[in-house]
Amino acid sequence: MAKQEDVFKKVISHAKEYGYVFQSSEIYDGLSAVYDYAQNGVELKKNIREYWWQAMVQLNDNIVGIDAAIFMHPTTWKASGHVDAFNDPLIDNKDSKKRYRADVLIEDHVAKIEAKIDKEVAKAAKRFGDSFDKKQFLETNQRVLDYQTKADGILKRMGKSLENEDLADVKALIEELGIACPLSGSKNWTDVKQFNLMFGTKLGASADSAMDLYLRPETAQGIFVNFLNVQKTGRMKIPFGIAQTGKAFRNEIVARQFIFRMREFEQMEMQYFIKPGTQQEWYEKWKEKRMKWHLSLGMGEDNYRFHDHEKLAHYADAAADIEFKFPFGFKELEGIHSRTDFDLSQHEEYSGKKLQYFDPEENKSYVPYVLETSIGLDRMFLAVFSNSLKEEELENGTTRTVLKIPAVLAPTKAAVLPLLKRDGLPEVANKLIDELKWDFNVIYDEKDAVGRRYRRQDAAGTPFCVTVDHQTLEDDTVTIRHRDTMEQQRVKLSQVKEIISKEVDMRYWLQKI
Ligand code: ATP
Repeated sequence: MAKQEDVFKKVISHAKEYGYVFQSSEIYDGLSAVYDYAQNGVELKKNIREYWWQAMVQLNDNIVGIDAAIFMHPTTWKASGHVDAFNDPLIDNKDSKKRYRADVLIEDHVAKIEAKIDKEVAKAAKRFGDSFDKKQFLETNQRVLDYQTKADGILKRMGKSLENEDLADVKALIEELGIACPLSGSKNWTDVKQFNLMFGTKLGASADSAMDLYLRPETAQGIFVNFLNVQKTGRMKIPFGIAQTGKAFRNEIVARQFIFRMREFEQMEMQYFIKPGTQQEWYEKWKEKRMKWHLSLGMGEDNYRFHDHEKLAHYADAAADIEFKFPFGFKELEGIHSRTDFDLSQHEEYSGKKLQYFDPEENKSYVPYVLETSIGLDRMFLAVFSNSLKEEELENGTTRTVLKIPAVLAPTKAAVLPLLKRDGLPEVANKLIDELKWDFNVIYDEKDAVGRRYRRQDAAGTPFCVTVDHQTLEDDTVTIRHRDTMEQQRVKLSQVKEIISKEVDMRYWLQKI
């Protein structure tokens, strides 16, 4: 098995074992691509949401928050384009009865061709040793060039067919390439159909009067329809932003990869309303600002990259993803989109209401342009969790499993451990907990030898352990152990709160932005 897959499996099992993420309805064998956050997961998720909210709303005096309902008037989704265009192309295999995204089948086929290129490179590197010039090899080796031409040609044809809604050609491409069902090996395919990703539901008691509704597939539209309400009641002046976090629902055809692609997930979105013509400037600014937010968590610059979109969504005039290096490779974590005046203009048209801003400087009204930043909270959770999980070799030859979650996001900030369960040590430990619990999540742990307790807290991601021992009774000092360095410090009981606060305070982390 590939090493990447091993790492990812470890992430999933660790998330369950340490109370972060459970499969939904597990006792009924689970529900596909739906997950529950457990006692530690809910805290980590809350802290990530708060870290985003403070950076967006609290620290920007021209950005305010809202919390719109999940249900919206169904015309919203006509206006936004989701009823007509929020589709993925699906194809079924008639023998295995398995459903696939046609574009993903083709992309996986291309990935196999690209893997052949990697193999040629590895072979040549071995043959030529130190004198190997990879760039030159890629540009001149005929076999590699043929593979690359083939891969590029396939993707180009697929892109064109999807853009032209030519689904028959997408199927023809799958057949010409001889793509087989990964499960059954069969090439017996149905036609390709468009599949709308929105979940439908009904509002109202009787079948006749019931109204067809959708569960929102993105939070953004709740912001657009409230744009003028917020602008007027908040007396906001352009440029200004509206931020929101909340659930979104998509009936993803292929939902694999744990909490990376879920059917029910949470988004953190911000729409920034700007003067038409200034979108390029704000696009660049928000790309930079969002990347700084990510980097402030100290999870390694090399783990992030921008990916500029060539094929733009119907509403965008520029778009980029911030990609993160997940255990299965670089994938989208956040999108930054220049959405023009598409959404507000559409809502004007469908609602018949004006959604314009009177600009006192220009002395005229216009429909603002919008710059959007949109990040999946669950994907951010997976980025933090998977990047934090480490197996470390220690000097004494043993290994430890440690979850190095940035201290500001850690679910529990400190564990207080009495060295023994007697001699008055538990009482002192509990007194310390009573003092610390007003400021952060702390837990008490007295079971097992202290070394094992340290390991347990390392694996759970707790950044500090505070140990109360017999010396504490004599001089009011305790040992603070730091999770990441395993360093131990002897400090006064009265200093504990300040030492922990310094490292977990959002202010300290957000100042780096
Ligand atoms: P993808 O290409 O991965 O399907 P997308 O481009 O459709 O994502 P957007 O519509 O731009 O995603 O949504 C913004 C963000 O919401 C994404 O960057 C991602 O973090 C998150 N997101 C989207 N779909 C899902 C999902 N099914 N599960 C979890 N998070 C999601």
